[in-house]
Amino acid sequence: MTHAMQNIAILGSTGSIGVNTLDVVARHPDRFRVTALTAKSSTDVLLAQCKQFKPEFAVLMDTGAARSFEQSVAEAGLPTRVLCGVEALEKVASLPQVDTVMAAIVGIAGLRPTLAAAASGKKVLLANKESLVTAGPLFMNTVRRHGARLLPIDSEHNAVFQSLPREFYGDLDACGVRRILLTASGGPFRTLPLDAFARVTPDQACAHPNWVMGRKISVDSATMMNKGLEVIEAHWLFNAPPERIEVVVHPESIVHSMVEYVDGSAIAQLGNPDMRTPIAHALAYPERITNGVTALDLAAAGSLHFEKPDWARFPCLALPSDALRAGEGAATVLNAANEVAVERFLEQGLSYPDIPRLIESVLRAVHAPAAHTLTDVLELDHEARGRAWAWQGRSLHAAGAGTIAVAARS
Ligand code: NAD
Ligand code: MG
Repeated sequence: MTHAMQNIAILGSTGSIGVNTLDVVARHPDRFRVTALTAKSSTDVLLAQCKQFKPEFAVLMDTGAARSFEQSVAEAGLPTRVLCGVEALEKVASLPQVDTVMAAIVGIAGLRPTLAAAASGKKVLLANKESLVTAGPLFMNTVRRHGARLLPIDSEHNAVFQSLPREFYGDLDACGVRRILLTASGGPFRTLPLDAFARVTPDQACAHPNWVMGRKISVDSATMMNKGLEVIEAHWLFNAPPERIEVVVHPESIVHSMVEYVDGSAIAQLGNPDMRTPIAHALAYPERITNGVTALDLAAAGSLHFEKPDWARFPCLALPSDALRAGEGAATVLNAANEVAVERFLEQGLSYPDIPRLIESVLRAVHAPAAHTLTDVLELDHEARGRAWAWQGRSLHAAGAGTIAVAARS
């Protein structure tokens, strides 16, 4: 069978999703050609990727790093042009020769290039959930207006997409869908004694039982903020009100999510926890391609468990749905506060229980008008970040035994 060659730009190629994407791409040189690779600062990994895939463009975020990278590329005799900065990300995401953009930058840093890909009508493989959380209406309108094709990479949303009828176009009722059931592993602290939370370290929070991922999403999985963000993501992707999206804890991470229909059928997608499954699905859609993923052995898995989420243990889980109901720009504020809280936890000793405290405090403090344009979104993000860096938890420390006071960023 012959296939049209797909030219791909991978935004965030040195990260967990980026590396998995290149692993699948490398298995199918007859289908995929890499046009652009991008990284924030991991020049060693990026150089190795450029040597293997010989892209036309490589983008770094720092001018100094880009300049010395240019030299390495020249010494290696590669055809790659080195560019720098967020405008360069937007440029490679909208190149006329690019068919498909893998949006795998972490955080709101991914918003501008992902929007640029949508605005130039690309096939957008969306891993960067923060684009939808921070700018849902703007993003979805851009996709519709410019005829982009949006395919979810987040394993849950990819599972939902696979469990919906092909003809789904945004009307759940028309397809007889009652609810979307998002599964959640519960992360590394599903059964940790509550009095141990105050001493949780970054490495413990990043040690996910089933998935190897970047550190930001790993912390989000530990707090279950990730699942809350995924409720917002599902809301925009599938036009589902929050009351029709239910979170089910499933520690084995084998059922990746489900769609429940009005006749009582629940259609699920199952597989080993390996991101190469949703990546390959979206890359080749509507065809299926091999990807090195081990076949599921249900007998070896033995039993699958399901339980209700423990809302008291995971205060971050409810915050995104609340923000979605509050409307306006609350989700943008929530995302900014969470990104800063996670960074402060990972780098600056903010205690684990202070993560939800910081976020709630910023949500209360920042007035969040509706953000209609990219400028509105970025301004709101900026204001919320300022608050989040300044947060010291003064009034809350009396109540929170074991919390560590952390100075604002100097
Ligand atoms: P990661 O930290 O491993 O990689 C992030 C990538 O983005 C790297 O290439 C990095 O160089 C680049 N990057 C970071 N900050 C940047 C900035 N300011 N400007 C430009 N580039 C920047 O992250 P990841 O785990 O691969 O996750 C990427 C995205 O995919 C996230 O939005 C995450 O929520 C989503 N996602 C990841 C997984 C997973 O299994 N890792 C699963 C579902 C969804
Ligand atoms: Mg997920």
